[in-house]
Amino acid sequence: MRTLKLKAPAKVNLYLQVLKRRPDGFHDIETIFEKIDLCDTITLKKLNTPGIELFCSAGLAQDNRNLAYQAAQAIFQNTGCEQGVELRITKRIPVAAGLGGGSSDAASVLLGLNRLFSFGLSKKQLAKLAEQLGADVPFFIFPGARAIGRGKGEDLTTLRLNKKYWYILVIPRPIKVSTRKMYQSLRIALTKRASRAKIVLQALKKSDLTSLNKNSYNSFESVLVKKYRQILVIKKALQSSGCAATLVSGSGPCVFGVTQTRKEAAEISKSLRAKSKNWQVITCKTFSSVKNM
Ligand code: ATP
Repeated sequence: MRTLKLKAPAKVNLYLQVLKRRPDGFHDIETIFEKIDLCDTITLKKLNTPGIELFCSAGLAQDNRNLAYQAAQAIFQNTGCEQGVELRITKRIPVAAGLGGGSSDAASVLLGLNRLFSFGLSKKQLAKLAEQLGADVPFFIFPGARAIGRGKGEDLTTLRLNKKYWYILVIPRPIKVSTRKMYQSLRIALTKRASRAKIVLQALKKSDLTSLNKNSYNSFESVLVKKYRQILVIKKALQSSGCAATLVSGSGPCVFGVTQTRKEAAEISKSLRAKSKNWQVITCKTFSSVKNM
């Protein structure tokens, strides 16, 4: 095998509570991750000469500032591999939106190179490399569509939930947020709130979107809403178009609405698109393919 084509799915956080700042500067969190079928595609091709050649769309860096490049470097270093690879990434996941695109690309490169060069690294070894690349990267190594993440997000527990949901993702194009800065703007009144992750899981199991809306939570949401009124405007637009549950993903600025059917999601998306040209609106559902693994 000389080439491999992989899908790198985005994620949403159906719950995200930042618990506390740790002495190492990271934060402990509790989150419910879900992969969605909005995917970047990555083609990996063996080269006859050593080195990493990266081609990436969306104007992103094509050198070691790109997380996918760093992933290739990490696995080559770890295995002592002196061969070469060409990586071609077609970005579809909006960048720096809270949808985990960079992390997912990095995880797919680790999984893909492990297969392409038959390195034989175990999931555990890949997860260790993933953790060094970023807190969200291990989730994308993880085979299931949903998991609870604890620690920095790398301590993962599978969620066996057959339910599929539809999502309306709304990305306010003018708003640019940096995850690092968002963490810095969280003040430590963080630990006081009791966890509602279990109630959210029950709501997801029972398709109870009203309970999901009431109990789901994202620590960054109030900070984002204070800073950018648009976030609240989007949430209200989703609600008035018929969305029972709305939330911010990751550290934002993507706001998403949840529905049970494709029809509802398509109608709500249409109504949101008509409301503002500055909103990128994407309809997608729970990710079901695990072919990368
Ligand atoms: P975070 O993991 O910081 O929460 P995110 O999910 O909000 O990120 P990403 O799309 O992963 O957003 O982008 C975060 C940053 O990483 C951007 O500033 C981007 O320039 C950089 N980056 C590096 N490599 C990639 C990549 N392959 N795809 C997307 N962004 C990348």
